[in-house]
Parts: sequence; C-alpha cells; structure tokens
Amino acid sequence: MPGAGFNLKTGDQSSSRLVLIWRILQAIVWLAGAGILFCLLFFPPLGVLLFWNILIPVAPALFVTALGVWRNVCPLATTNLLPRHAGLSKRKRLSVTQLGKLNLIGVIAFYIIVPLRHSIFNTNGVATGILIISMAVIGIVMGFFYEWKSAWCSGLCPVHPVEKLYGGNVLISVPNAHCGKCRNCVIPCPDSTPNIQPNSSAKTIYHRINGLLITGGLPGFIWGWFHVHDERTISSIGDFLGVYEMPLLGFMITLVIYGILIMNIRPKFEQRLTSIFAALGVSCYYWYRIPALFGFGIKGSDGLLLNLRNTLPEWVLAVITVSVCIFFFYWLVVRKQNNKSWSVRPQYSK
Ligand code: SF4
Repeated sequence: MPGAGFNLKTGDQSSSRLVLIWRILQAIVWLAGAGILFCLLFFPPLGVLLFWNILIPVAPALFVTALGVWRNVCPLATTNLLPRHAGLSKRKRLSVTQLGKLNLIGVIAFYIIVPLRHSIFNTNGVATGILIISMAVIGIVMGFFYEWKSAWCSGLCPVHPVEKLYGGNVLISVPNAHCGKCRNCVIPCPDSTPNIQPNSSAKTIYHRINGLLITGGLPGFIWGWFHVHDERTISSIGDFLGVYEMPLLGFMITLVIYGILIMNIRPKFEQRLTSIFAALGVSCYYWYRIPALFGFGIKGSDGLLLNLRNTLPEWVLAVITVSVCIFFFYWLVVRKQNNKSWSVRPQYSK
C-alpha cells in the first residue's frame, strides 16, 4: 500500500509489524462496521440497537480519552482513504479558506442531522444505513481528489467538530495508521497538534465561526436534544421544525453564555473555557444517555439497550452517572494539559 508505515517515536516508515497490527485492527473494525451496516439495511431493529445504542454511546468517551485510536480504525475513514492508499488520489491540497468552509458545512450538517434522529434515524435502520452510505460515497469521491484526511476526516465529516472539542487532552498518542508521509495537507493538522481545540485553528472567519458554534452551542444542544421524544412522524413543516425546537433553544442559551464569557475573559483563559464547555457537553450527554440505556431515561424506552429498571435500584445508576460526569470534568478541566496529539505525525514528505 503506498504511504503505509510509521515509527511511533520518529514517524519514520519502518515498523512493518506496527503497520500490520494496525491494518489488522482496521480490517476487523471495518468488517464490524460493514456487519452493522448490513444489519441496518436488512435487520433494522438489530442494526439500530448496534449502531445507535452501542457504538454511538461509546464514541464520546473514546474521543475524550484515545481519539487517535478511533481516527485510525474508523470504518468510514478506512473506506474514504482507500483511493489514497491505493495510489488513485490526485492528492490535491485544499487552501486554508476552503478547509474552513468545509469545516463550517460539517458543523452545520451535524446540527441539522442529529435532531433528525428523533424523527427518522433512531427508529429507521434503513434510513440510517442510507445516511452512512451517502457519507461514504461523498468521502470516497473526495478521497479521489484530495490529499489524505484533508477533505473528509479533517474537513467535511460532521463528527469531526465534536472530535476537536472533546479530544483536547487525550491520554495517548498512537501512530498515525493512515497517512504515510505527512504532506502537511491540513494546517494545523488535528491529528498531529498537541491539545488541539476548535479555536486552535482560528485562521479565517470560517474557522472562528466553527469554533464558536461547536464550543458554545454543543452543551445546550445536547441538553435540548434529550428533551425530545423519538418516533415523531413528520407529516408537516411544524412536525419537522418540532424536533429542532429544544436542541435549538439549548444551543442558543449556551452559545450566548459562551459568547459573553469569551468576550470578557483574558486570552490565556480561553483554552480553559473551551475545556469547561467540552466537559459540559460530554457530561450532559452521559447524564442523560447512561440512564436511557438501562431503562431509567426521561423519555421512556427511547435509546434503550437493556432494561434494568426492575433489577437495579435507581440510586446505583445515579451514582454511576454522577461519577462518569465528575470523571469527564476532572479529565478535561482539572487535569493538566499533557501536550499530546491524537497521533504521532509521520515524517514529512520531501
Ligand atoms: S498527518 Fe500530515 S498528511 Fe496526515 S492529515 Fe495530518 S497534515 Fe495531512
């Protein structure tokens, strides 16, 4: 495979054993992803359970602790980077402004798609499967033209803004299992920049808007999202807008609070403020998601994985949930910034 290989310390292309291990992991996770996609299309209830109630709830915690692992094995990334690995990409470079615009489209797509989970995706495996296939097609097409992760993984992917917000203080840097030699295709490269945050790349107005929307808006958006019921059928514009009301309200509240704070604090505290909003976002997610997974959700059986309502005292789950939230605040806000990037930058291409 052109461009495969790395050394953990130097980024050199030498450790074939490490390459092999990551290729095997990528293959396993890709097959698991393909299996989930198959279930979504042909056994929708099982696919929905596997995708929305197992895979997705694990993702934020992985983003916070070891995002590089996810970036290395994400099945969508493995698919979208196939043209580049196979030497079929034109390897074009995006300008900083183009990247900022792609990021902005990604943020907006995130805020548009996620509320639709309540009306379509959470209960419709086929629709979720089509959504995933659509993203894969767009990513592959971009992969034929643009260098490494620039266009999709660090550009248009709607999940990437959340990665950037949550992945500001990861535990480990892993080898970059996709990029062979670094072509500096994203500046700053989110994979290779220590303690990257949404505002680290405030190079253009688009980058600044991205940082504002995802950092300020996400905690409230998540809070509002959990106050909407699943299985709303959209039969009118009113129904359609209905799934956006609460997420939008929450989004506006925390965005305004963040906007006021960021204008009034000293620049040296900006990173800390971003960390606080990241912790608020991920904690709010698990505050509602953990009880919902086990039958204690505020919206009945929405998002249910395993109903323990009649077997587990409610206080046990409350203790677990509070502990998880405290952990994220410690991890993102209290813990010292450790100068680690999601992955080790490979050697620069000459
Ligand atoms: S490591 Fe280098 S080649 Fe890979 S995405 Fe980052 S900047 Fe691009």
